Amino acid sequence: MRLSQYLLPTVKETPADAEIASHQLMLRAGMIRRIAAGIYTYLPFGLRAVRKVEQIVREEMDRAGALELLMPMVIPAELWQESGRWQQYGRELLRLKDRKDAEFCLGPTHEEVITDVVRGTVKSYRQLPLNLYQIQGKFRDEIRPRFGLMRGREFIMKDAYSFDLDSAGADSAYERMYRAYQRIFKRCGLQFRAVEADTGNIGGSSSHEFMVLAASGEDAIVSCDSCDYAANVEKAQVRLPAGPRPAATQALELVATPGRKTVEEVAAFLGIELQHLVKTLLLQTDSGERLAVLLRGDHSLNTIKLCRLLGCQQVQLLDESEVQQLSGAPAGFAGPLGLACRIIADRELSLLADFVVGANQADHHYRGVNLERDLQIGAFADLRQAQAGDGCPRCAGHLQAWRGIEVGHVFKLGTKYSEALGATVLNAEGREEPLVMGCYGIGIGRTVASAIEQNHDENGIIFPMPIAPYQVLIVLLNPKEDAAREAAQQLYDQLLQAGVEVLFDDRDERPGSKFKDADLLGIPLRVTVGGRSLKEGVIEVQARADGQQWRLTQAETADWLCCQVRQALAES
Ligand code: ATP
Ligand code: MG
Repeated sequence: MRLSQYLLPTVKETPADAEIASHQLMLRAGMIRRIAAGIYTYLPFGLRAVRKVEQIVREEMDRAGALELLMPMVIPAELWQESGRWQQYGRELLRLKDRKDAEFCLGPTHEEVITDVVRGTVKSYRQLPLNLYQIQGKFRDEIRPRFGLMRGREFIMKDAYSFDLDSAGADSAYERMYRAYQRIFKRCGLQFRAVEADTGNIGGSSSHEFMVLAASGEDAIVSCDSCDYAANVEKAQVRLPAGPRPAATQALELVATPGRKTVEEVAAFLGIELQHLVKTLLLQTDSGERLAVLLRGDHSLNTIKLCRLLGCQQVQLLDESEVQQLSGAPAGFAGPLGLACRIIADRELSLLADFVVGANQADHHYRGVNLERDLQIGAFADLRQAQAGDGCPRCAGHLQAWRGIEVGHVFKLGTKYSEALGATVLNAEGREEPLVMGCYGIGIGRTVASAIEQNHDENGIIFPMPIAPYQVLIVLLNPKEDAAREAAQQLYDQLLQAGVEVLFDDRDERPGSKFKDADLLGIPLRVTVGGRSLKEGVIEVQARADGQQWRLTQAETADWLCCQVRQALAES
């Protein structure tokens, strides 16, 4: 394409409402345009990157034996009522009515629709296994859409669903998708990790998230420095340090801690380390039970682990007045001694002696607290968030902490939807069995944004070759120079002929601003055609990624570029 005829609204200034690099750069490079919160138009340059990722996803899904179909975005309420999610899904589900007052929703995910497709078309185990996927716009009315395509309300997703007769079949479908995802994200040029993920309400099943490593990531993940254990912190386990608990050496003592409320303030005031202090969190479950959770001062609560233990959906910290009511003291001084509610402790507390807790009195703590002698704990459980330096649960290694962007998710669903919607097949003995399902998502736009988040510098985007909107950019320095214009035009034609994706900057602009745009757009190879070097018969090529330069003869340039592009694609 010729830039003189392109729609490429590049912007020099950093847009004020964009917080992270990929969002800023996608706006500045004229890739997307916001129309409402979390809703974007993909402009021509941006759409090409999106289509590249889609194509990689398609190739790998097809290679893994999945079949593409396309489901509707508008879904009748009845299907969601059958699964029970019409009630459960909450406000992320955008509901609408048609002219006859019939209720619909915009699909945020398509388990119900695909299960309906399959229950209506698959009758026998001989039609299995089956894996169906689509690449389609989804709508989720996210509370906080942000970071551009990273967390949109309308966004493009690849969603696949596998159907098998039994769980062994479902396990191998899951394995195949896991491997396909590794190929996909590798081909997209991403640094990523597959991590174990929490499975939410569907207990027992397994799930992995594919996380692109980036400081701006919304997810916290940990991975072992010596084995391949990696998990979302929501799920991550930690190794319990070896016991036994040291013997008690101190007597129980009430100490004044005037105005010291936070663990840091108390520890500093008493001259102790955070890990000798035990914090008492007072919480309430969604069923109204109030309870206390004890954690070491340097640890933090993993509410997902706690909810799993309690079998509830949510827990909330008590507010000031509720704390006062339950503990008899202002917030910051609650403690387990004499507290009239259920007390659960993180299991690492079982290794602690001579610790400090709140005294349930304003401005006081207890020192020299010891288990059994001073305090009976009903239950110990793994309740804390994993953090850097913790022992790996699988080996003797240690955990490292990272931030990650979830670009893909693979999930064993079991028979949740097939049972709810009555999707069964006849097995070899002629008995009806519910289908065993898996679901597998990839955020297409989020993958593009993540690639930019990982591949940019202060001047702009650095596209990995496989997902670059164009592979080569020809910068014609001065379109008014006949020789240069003709040379650039010839090269452009040769590259097109050879099937190279080339953008031709033939605009009547100053070279400085063309180079600025070239850096911003991040096309992997930049060819400069202009006066002085052309007189010496030379064309200059520069790699966007590392700035490496080559001086080529006019005759060899097109072939050389073709080779470079092919090589870069083959390596990916
Ligand atoms: P998140 O935890 O980020 O909200 P999710 O777990 O709800 O995501 P899934 O239901 O697993 O997401 O969706 C599959 C994939 O779709 C995700 O891995 C992600 O790449 C993408 N995705 C999900 N929500 C959004 C969104 N609001 N904007 C862009 N992509 C999204
Ligand atoms: Mg997910």
